[in-house]
Amino acid sequence: DSITGSLKNAINKIRHKDDEAALKKAAAELKKSLLKADVHHKTTKVLVSEVELETKRNGIGQDSFINALRKELTKLLTTEGNQGFVFSNTPPTTILMTGLQGSGKTTTTGKLANYLKIRKKKVLVAACDLQRLAAVEQLKQIAAQIEVDIYFDDNEKDPVKIAVAAQEKAKKELYDVLLIDTAGRLAIDEELMKQLANVKDAVKPDEIFYVADALTGHDATKTATTFKEKIGIDGVILSKYDGDTKGGVALSIAHQVETPLRFIGIGEKMPDLEVFIPDRIVSRLLGLGDIEGLAEKTSAIIDEKKAKEVTKKIKKGEFNFNDFLEQLSMMSKLGSMKSIIGMIPGLSQMAGPIKDMDFENSDEIKRIKALIGSMTPKEREEPSLLNPSRKKRIAVGSGLTEVQVNKILKQFKNASKMAKKLSTKGGMKGLSNMLS
Ligand code: GDP
Ligand code: MG
Repeated sequence: DSITGSLKNAINKIRHKDDEAALKKAAAELKKSLLKADVHHKTTKVLVSEVELETKRNGIGQDSFINALRKELTKLLTTEGNQGFVFSNTPPTTILMTGLQGSGKTTTTGKLANYLKIRKKKVLVAACDLQRLAAVEQLKQIAAQIEVDIYFDDNEKDPVKIAVAAQEKAKKELYDVLLIDTAGRLAIDEELMKQLANVKDAVKPDEIFYVADALTGHDATKTATTFKEKIGIDGVILSKYDGDTKGGVALSIAHQVETPLRFIGIGEKMPDLEVFIPDRIVSRLLGLGDIEGLAEKTSAIIDEKKAKEVTKKIKKGEFNFNDFLEQLSMMSKLGSMKSIIGMIPGLSQMAGPIKDMDFENSDEIKRIKALIGSMTPKEREEPSLLNPSRKKRIAVGSGLTEVQVNKILKQFKNASKMAKKLSTKGGMKGLSNMLS
């Protein structure tokens, strides 16, 4: 029951008929779906009547309805201000992360750090949430996982001092970016606001990001407005946008808070963060995919040179287990399946079951990893070495049965044969043709 589904219902009302009555029905359905998605009623009213007018102007029909809807939704999502991450002229670019407890500040701090690291920036994160005991530990773990430096001080109780010390370090050691994670409360209170204001005054951040939990719907908009009034915010990051139900909050928050949406969080993992680009999101909301976004995402992560090497190997039928492991780690850097699927035109509707698949943690992948883990380096390079006695040894080492080992090895062999065939038939071009 996603917003994409209900928008599709609206679009379908005008599928076979192209008269005013059909348009009225489509408009009514559109209104219903926007309201259900938590778009503010005033915004909804204006948007629906604009879409109606525009459709009439261009001749009533499904295409003109979709075009009008696309245009109006994009307009709604476009707010004056910066887009994505903006670097200061005088590094380190200092960002203050704010928001309520549980909104996703710490996770988003890690995601942003990861996003910048992939783009070759030197990033420092600062642990300034001293309210919750586990908060510093959480950021330490995240920093270790993404291999980004962290500044913390277990003996200091004043978040302002930690922030200042982190900024000094970032300046001295020539970091490009400093991301300051702060404490949140369950609700807005004076003390939280004062603490944030103090940190702000001390470090003079280039930008203040407000992390809003998409699942809280209208409340996210209200709280963001309060933070804007009391602290001043330069951008909103909408976290948990992967939980579809209230997906519509994206449609109203930027507009109502009059602050641009800069990024969206689309999963719990570190790669699950995207720059918010209005027309791309609209395209996805309408189930039309976002090939541009997909291309951008993959180009930042996939090492072109390595990709070429692998393609060459595949063509020669030399694809081995080391290559496989490398491909696997590249896949995991792309983030959750769900986020990728939404970017491929048409697939989001079709791909129900794989959408929720956790690729890395699936039993199959775990088994394959165990199997590869029990191979010698030479065996990984040359799968053809695997004779029955070696297979037996691998089965024991990996805790798999011999039948399982044989099955996986056979699948692997078939897969590389298939890949070889595909690659000689035009490779990635063939694949992208299949997708479009
Ligand atoms: P904080 O208290 O504001 O620092 O919030 P945390 O960063 O600790 O996040 C709270 C919970 O939300 C954690 O379980 C995160 O994994 C989860 N979370 C954060 N961002 C996202 C997101 O974009 N999608 C999903 N599904 N979960 C998220
Ligand atoms: Mg936190």
